[in-house]
Amino acid sequence: MPTDPAAIDTRVDEIGPKLTDLARRIHQNPELRFEEHKAADWIAELVEKLGGMKVERGIGGLPTALRARIGRGSPRIAICAEYDALPEIGHACGHNLIAAGAVGAFLALTPLGSELGGSIELLGTPAEEGGAGKIKLLEAGIFEGVDAALMYHPFDRDLLAHPALASLWIEMRFSGTPSHAAAAPWDGKSALTACLETFRLIDSQRVHFHDGVRVHGFVTNGGQAVNIIPEHAACEFSVRALTTKELERVRVIVERCARGAALACGVEVSLSTRTGYRAMNNNMTMARHFGRVLEALGRRPRETDDSVGAGSTDMGDVSQAVPSIHPYLAICDRDESLCHERRFAECAASERGYQTMLVAAKALARTAFDLLNDRELLETSKREFQTTHAANC
Ligand SMILES: [Zn+2]
Repeated sequence: MPTDPAAIDTRVDEIGPKLTDLARRIHQNPELRFEEHKAADWIAELVEKLGGMKVERGIGGLPTALRARIGRGSPRIAICAEYDALPEIGHACGHNLIAAGAVGAFLALTPLGSELGGSIELLGTPAEEGGAGKIKLLEAGIFEGVDAALMYHPFDRDLLAHPALASLWIEMRFSGTPSHAAAAPWDGKSALTACLETFRLIDSQRVHFHDGVRVHGFVTNGGQAVNIIPEHAACEFSVRALTTKELERVRVIVERCARGAALACGVEVSLSTRTGYRAMNNNMTMARHFGRVLEALGRRPRETDDSVGAGSTDMGDVSQAVPSIHPYLAICDRDESLCHERRFAECAASERGYQTMLVAAKALARTAFDLLNDRELLETSKREFQTTHAANC
């Protein structure tokens, strides 16, 4: 029985080749948000084969979500797996390693079964990349009654509690008047010009943004033909900030820029805003405990690092509902590559990537085990959550 850290580590090492194989297969078959059928199948098959339990498929109404449980009753600790890829650049966010690490952590604890003093859940959470899978699972009540949620994410350095930004998306559709671009350009009103001016106006406002704000867009429709003054044009922006308050302030500015550009060009604009992800409320009690475990495993994590940027994650929403951690572990050298780069996709299928995944599996398993067996640790985490989650909203 793996009742001590060494036994947990041994179990991870025993199944290490199978975890590496899982990570490699998911990497070689990148699937986009909500289409992760192969990945979900492979995860479920491995957990059922090695863990000997039935995996629930399609939880929360999401066909590629899944859940497996060991132990019984409360407290309930969730270990989250992600496995979606990015368009064109595949597993450039390393979610294949997140999946294998979470599965490894879960399977390392399965021999304990009812001796756990609570339950451990493996949650397969689809569509982190723009699909908000965890938000849908939250809305479906999958996290209700969960006492703590853990996951890790590949990165270029080890960080225990790096921020993740609150985010939203704004779709902008411009409608002008078409005309022949050579014979009668004076009869037209260009939707594309308004679309492009929006980018310039937003750039002009960046001086007024607080630190940590990110506003980035791309053109989704640039017109119809080169000889027509474009009647239709569209773009999409992502707005991110460290707090919901700043996010809201910047949203108003960005929307004003679109309206200003439309006014100047004499075209119409329609805006539709989609709620994105909430800021990460890192539970420092759990993050520091994870850090001590990591140190015992030979890593030297820092809490955070101002010299590297932050993204957004639907784990942010989970972290506002239950005490959560989302630490980062290096799968390459510092500054060698970051998430969403082609080089990072290579690192996600490298020997170093797989070694880090195994370390993550051990650290997640030990932390989950400790949360069930050290009630003071869990209670302190919960008390911290009560005092912090409202402040971070
Ligand atoms: Zn990611």
